[in-house]
Amino acid sequence: MTTTPNGCRHCGIDHHQHAQRWTAAAGWHRWTPPTQQQIKARMLARRARTGRRP
Ligand SMILES: [Zn+2]
Repeated sequence: MTTTPNGCRHCGIDHHQHAQRWTAAAGWHRWTPPTQQQIKARMLARRARTGRRP
């Protein structure tokens, strides 16, 4: 699964692709804005995956 920094708080799916989704934690839900902490963590994770290392 690709998580975007602005993905749903519960499942990480981007707003545009999100309709009704089910997760064990949140059940059926609509896209919910992620917390600042989640955005930061996802950006760091993505940078770690795609970033160039010397
Ligand atoms: Zn979701």
